[in-house]
Amino acid sequence: MSEPILQARAAQLDAEDGLAKLRERFTLPEGVVYLDGNSLGALGAGVPDAVADVVRRQWGELLIRSWDESRWWTAPERIGDRIAPLIGAAPGQVTVGDSTSVNLFKALVGAARLAAPGRTRMLVDATTFPTDGYIAASAARMTGLELVPVDPADAAGAFTADTAVVLLNHVDYRTGRLHDLPALTAAAHAAGALIVWDLCHSAGALPVGLDAHEVDLAVGCTYKYLNGGPGSPAYIYVAQRHQDAFDSPLPGWNGHAEPFAMTPDYTPAQGAARTRVGTPDILSMLALESALDAWEGVEIEAVRAKSLALTDFFLECVAAYVPQGKVEAVTPAEHGRRGSQVSLRTDNAREVMAELISRGVVGDFRAPDVLRFGFTPLYVGFADAERAARTLGHIFG
Ligand SMILES: *Cc1c(COP(=O)(O)O)cnc(C)c1O
Repeated sequence: MSEPILQARAAQLDAEDGLAKLRERFTLPEGVVYLDGNSLGALGAGVPDAVADVVRRQWGELLIRSWDESRWWTAPERIGDRIAPLIGAAPGQVTVGDSTSVNLFKALVGAARLAAPGRTRMLVDATTFPTDGYIAASAARMTGLELVPVDPADAAGAFTADTAVVLLNHVDYRTGRLHDLPALTAAAHAAGALIVWDLCHSAGALPVGLDAHEVDLAVGCTYKYLNGGPGSPAYIYVAQRHQDAFDSPLPGWNGHAEPFAMTPDYTPAQGAARTRVGTPDILSMLALESALDAWEGVEIEAVRAKSLALTDFFLECVAAYVPQGKVEAVTPAEHGRRGSQVSLRTDNAREVMAELISRGVVGDFRAPDVLRFGFTPLYVGFADAERAARTLGHIFG
């Protein structure tokens, strides 16, 4: 298909896109197609002023009073409750703070302590983002479990009566493959195991349904599809039914039932607050809170529909523009197995991505040979997808 036809299609799809106006909620660089929102989301339009107010007024003028008057102390639960609907969680189960790596540690050791006695294994996604594997290895060692890598696409067969805890990624960071959270969660439960899901590449891009599918624990970061900003704090979900028994391996004073009683003994807070550790990173946490304004009135189902339409259209444009045999899609074509990115395998992927970036199309490279293009439906449109594919075609042309 020729360029004019695909460009006309892109214009038509953008004109019909009910989410197109959401782009105004972000500040994006002029002339750039940004397809790396799965690594670092874009800047929310209201964030600079919100952060300036936190710094100048809340910190500069109110000082210590802000812990109460600017509601700093309760920010981890309050912002957790704003993320909750995006991942299908009722209020009171999500707490924001620390990094994803740290929350993985809390979730895995906490899950091992919740598991039925006598179980000996912790299963982890063999193709996981490295930090999950490193943390799982340490958590397994600490809790006396054997760490067993499993193929996430075929994990259910590995769930046995020995399995204490399973850790899986909802979407694979490299291939963009979406795993079947409802079925794998049900299979883990059928084997009597607990399951921890890493939502880094799904939250904000597609419906997760944590409560509906009875997930036990989950973690995720907020600087990818949730646009919280560089290093914005992560979150942890502990299902209501596990909260009373959840025994954090990092019982800091912020998770105490009475933090200001300053008692020598630890009594965990009721509810999700017991996942808190130390003093929250208020500046980045409140930048995240402002960034979440972009989700006002947005249904995650509509975001998912646009994401699939965008990735379909991008794949179609790549097929039309890139000479046969130069790239190979490693992201599944089937909608039910696709996240919100397209990964293309190619020779010299690092150089090809550098060339794309120099031509104003920003994606990223993942070793050894993958070009990654993240589609963030809140601010990426169909003309962006067409331009990205066309630019890629010119590089090979
Ligand atoms: C991005 C990502 C992380 C990031 O962990 P940090 O502690 O925030 O650095 C962890 N796991 C997965 C699967 C990710 O995609």
